[in-house]
Amino acid sequence: MKKDIHPKYYPNAIVRCSCGNTFTVGSTKEEIHTDVCSACHPFFTGEQRIVDTAGQVERFLRRLERRDELVAESASEPEKQATDNSTSADEAGVNDA
Ligand SMILES: [Zn+2]
Repeated sequence: MKKDIHPKYYPNAIVRCSCGNTFTVGSTKEEIHTDVCSACHPFFTGEQRIVDTAGQVERFLRRLERRDELVAESASEPEKQATDNSTSADEAGVNDA
């Protein structure tokens, strides 16, 4: 090995997962922190749990909720929407021909 270019190697570096699991690996870092590991990742556990770190699932559920509100609103006035749909369909048919 060439001298003075290799980082220090820790043969027993400690990996700490956010689920509480810890194990050792060889690494150039003395301690590693992870969000998921082989003990808690859904692929290995087989359980349908969503790993959500940025709140994306929560955001999607909020959007679904808002959509349900809009659908309920448009259902209360069905005649207006029906006429809107028929006019736009007629225009599209003319453009295609
Ligand atoms: Zn874990």
